[in-house]
Amino acid sequence: MSRLNQLSRRNIIKAGIAGLSATMLASFTSIRKVTADENKKSIKTDFEKVCYSELLPHEFRKRLAERPIAYLPLGTLEWHGEHLPLGSDAIQSEGLMIECARKLGGIVMPPIHLGPDRAKLTDDGNMLVGMDYARTTTPPHQLDGSCYWIPKGLHMAVIDSILSQLKRAGFRVVFADGHGPSRLNWAENIEEREARFGLKLFGVTEDIRKQWKCQIDHAGRNETSIMMKLRPELVDLSQLPESRSVWPQGVGGEDPRDATAVFGNECLNKSIEIIRQKFLNAGII
Ligand SMILES: [Zn+2]
Repeated sequence: MSRLNQLSRRNIIKAGIAGLSATMLASFTSIRKVTADENKKSIKTDFEKVCYSELLPHEFRKRLAERPIAYLPLGTLEWHGEHLPLGSDAIQSEGLMIECARKLGGIVMPPIHLGPDRAKLTDDGNMLVGMDYARTTTPPHQLDGSCYWIPKGLHMAVIDSILSQLKRAGFRVVFADGHGPSRLNWAENIEEREARFGLKLFGVTEDIRKQWKCQIDHAGRNETSIMMKLRPELVDLSQLPESRSVWPQGVGGEDPRDATAVFGNECLNKSIEIIRQKFLNAGII
């Protein structure tokens, strides 16, 4: 920087400081006085870290040695009514799994938002996927925000690659779930993959499907309640039609306008209990 530039820069800074009010200067002074100790106290540390991407190597080694369980949240980016976010599926499966890992041990993988679903070509050459042509989508059309659909074969290839890496990283058990079509695709291939990868795999399989309480509708009372429990700031019921005689577009199940966080909590706890039983029966915990 030239001498001239330095001088003019100093003048600008001086003029700036002169223009600051006493209160503003006092607040700058107080920022400088914060000690390292005070700073540490202000950072939230009273929670158990369980997400793979957040762990330091020594934390990862410890959790893996205690319980070599990986949780794989499945999802997609898809219309979930006007009142829920587009990534609702993986937000819910990840939220459930974080609670599982805190209560039962293990590590939560980053969610897979890519998901398979039914798809068909319309007469005018457009492709409709998933909820685009559900009974409650009238008329059938491309719903806003639906994205990240991938063919079933590609989804299987992605999951296969993850499983071989989980095995390599030292995991022995994997629980995966979330987003109806991903759930079914995972569950129907469990046996074959257990044999191929030498892992013990769990999902929402036929034997527990009736008791299972998470993600059992589409943006209805169940999913909306779980979202209200996990991420209330992302739910906006005021976006739904006020009149009960108008059913919300592209929503399936019980009425989301009856959703509560208390019900969402009950659903999460019942599902966690089912997983606990599954792990107990298999001698994993
Ligand atoms: Zn969903």
